[in-house]
Order: sequence, then structure tokens, then C-alpha cells
Amino acid sequence: MELKVGIIKGDGIGPEIVTEAMKVLNKVGEVYGHSYLYKELLLGGASIDVHGVPLTDETIAEAKSCDAVLMGSIGGDAKVSPWYKLEPSKRPEAGLLKIRKSLNLFANLRPAVLYDELKGACPLKEELTEGGFDMMIMRELTGGLYFGNRYTSEVDGVMTACDELTYNENEIRRIAIRAFDIAMKRNKKVISVDKANVLDSSRLWRKVVEEVAKDYPEVTLEHMLVDNCAMQLVKNPKQFDVILTENMFGDILSDEASMITGSIGMLASASLNDTKFGLYEPSGGSAPDIAGKGIANPIATILSAAMMLRFSFDLDKEADAIEAAVAQVLKDGYRTIDIMSEGKVQVNTAEIGNLICERIA
Ligand code: NAD
Repeated sequence: MELKVGIIKGDGIGPEIVTEAMKVLNKVGEVYGHSYLYKELLLGGASIDVHGVPLTDETIAEAKSCDAVLMGSIGGDAKVSPWYKLEPSKRPEAGLLKIRKSLNLFANLRPAVLYDELKGACPLKEELTEGGFDMMIMRELTGGLYFGNRYTSEVDGVMTACDELTYNENEIRRIAIRAFDIAMKRNKKVISVDKANVLDSSRLWRKVVEEVAKDYPEVTLEHMLVDNCAMQLVKNPKQFDVILTENMFGDILSDEASMITGSIGMLASASLNDTKFGLYEPSGGSAPDIAGKGIANPIATILSAAMMLRFSFDLDKEADAIEAAVAQVLKDGYRTIDIMSEGKVQVNTAEIGNLICERIA
């Protein structure tokens, strides 16, 4: 199979971690008989340096012509980088928001995986996390409170602010379908999180999710109120497979879930639209403090590449091979500096990439 992949190396550690992910993809290609047509795209500071803007229309068109885009991270140190002397709409982060919007990426996927080998980094009690956990948070990304009308005005002499939370049934249905499709590739359990005891938008959410569930008889659906979910994540994280939720709840819960896994360098993510297209990137930023030192952890980007194979190309076996190789490298005791602990072998960015490649079979 030929895979047409847009590559955004980005800024800071971006080029270092994307290089390792490409190395791993190439190894998967060799072993499983796939080839890649990579198209390098500029975004963020790298684009400002060349074009004066963080994202050009040509880049958007090129991204759309690919089957998926793999991205490092963008941005620099706002205190010293000249990019931050530009007006806000021309800064690196504006390019990120624009590409997500232009590609209609409404579903954000963030896996939260605690590897047994890294359980020392988890702040929860050991008996709660024995054996690790593996959940996927699917957050609606383009609707709800963050995109509703908002205003601040004086009402009866009192300053009053209002933010509207709106969802229509189509917005709910399309993300619910995505969540059930992904649950079918995992442990076939969806927990839909809402606040249906209070909010109309949540009651509609629940109704539409139940309708979608009828098309997936193999998947178990449960509903959970968001306040309970926040508690359950730290009480019994092993109960979760796919968490499906709206924008603001997902924003908060996905950060909570990532905190209980340990290092930011391990956290992959994907943003999908209603085709197979997706933008795959690590959850962390461009880490300007360690850029160019060759010590960044590329695993989040490598795991994002595995998600790309799974969700944009339906190459589940190949994605499994990458995830297994990462787990094996950790089991064999290799660590980048951010996840280093006593008795383990510290390696740099390129070395851990090579070690993962060697374990892909
Ligand atoms: P950051 O995630 O870049 O860094 C926070 C801390 O985590 C730093 O100490 C960094 O060294 C460490 N870290 C992050 N990724 C790591 C990795 N792979 N391996 C080892 N250590 C890692 O967050 P920040 O410092 O707040 O932001 C830096 C820049 O990144 C800013 O310009 C910000 O706007 C941008 N940013 C971009 C994205 C994105 O591209 N999606 C996301 C978040 C932040």
C-alpha cells in the first residue's frame, strides 16, 4: 500500500521527534510492504521564517491532498522568540488553530496509557494501577461552550457574562459514530460522559448517543455524569476503554487522564474529521528548553504515527507492532531523560528511535 502522508516537523524539538517517528514508519513499511509518499509542510514558526505567516493557503491545500498528516509541535519561547513580536493572528499557534479548523477536525482522540514499566510516574496508589491501564478519550472539538455566542454586558446595573453551550444532533451523531467505530477496534466499551441531570445539551447528547449505539450491538454503552467521571478516573482508571464526551468536559478530563499516566513525552493524540483523514501529533509542545540537545522523548510522536496507521489507513497489525515495540523497549529498561529512573539505561532521542525500530517485526 502507498501511504500519502503530510509531514509537519514544526519548531523546537519537532524536527527531532518527527525524524524518529518517520524512521519507525519506514521500518514498518519495510517489514509489512508499504511505501510512503511524504509531503513536507510548513506550519508555525518554520512557516513564519519562510512565508511571514504561520500557515499558507497552499499548505492547507497540500495537507488536504494527503491521506493523513503527522506533526511534531510548533511554537517557541515567547520571551525570546521574534515570532511573538508579531500580532497574535500571525504567531505560530494561530497556524495550529487555522489548520484544525480548515481540515474540519471535530474529533480529538487522546489515549491515556499507563505502561506497567512506568507506573512509578503515576501519582495514584499502586493497587489502583497494578497492570497499567489503557483508555481513549474522544473529545468533541469544534462545538459546545468554546464555540458558542458569548458576551459581557451590564444587566440591571450589574456586569454579567454569558457563554452559550449549543450542540445539534448532527454534531453529536458524527462524533458518537467515531467513538463507536474506535471502540470496535478496542475493548468494545463506550462510556459517554455528560451532565444530563442538569443540561439540555447533555440530554440531547445522551439521546443521540443511544440511537447511534443501536448500530453497534457488540459495544457496551454506559452513561456517566462528568463529576462522577472526574472521580472515577482517579478511583478506578482501569474501568475505562473509550470515553466519549463534549468539548469542555473533554478538555478537563483528558488533562486529568494524562496526569495519571506520568510523562508528557509519552502522550499521543489525533484529531479526525468525518473521512479517514486525521492530524496526528504528540500532546506536548515544542519544548524550546531542550530543543537541539537530542534528548527529547520521541515516543508520543511514534505512538501518534501508530494511531495514524490504525485510524487513517486501517493498518491495525502495523499499529500493534509499533505499540508492542515501544512497550518492549520500556520493558528492556531503556529510557529518555524525562522518564529516567534508577537502574534503567538512559538513551537519547535517536537511540530510542533505533531501539524501537529494532523491535518491529
Ligand atoms: P511543552 O510541552 O513544550 O514543555 C513543557 C515541559 O515538558 C518542558 O520542560 C519540556 O522540556 C517538557 N517536554 C515536552 N515534550 C517533551 C518531550 N517530548 N520529551 C521530553 N520532555 C518534553 O510546553 P510549553 O513549554 O508550555 O510550550 C512550549 C511551546 O510549545 C510554546 O510555544 C507553546 O505554545 C507550544 N505548544 C505547542 C503545542 C502544539 O504544537 N500542539 C502544544 C502545546 C504547546
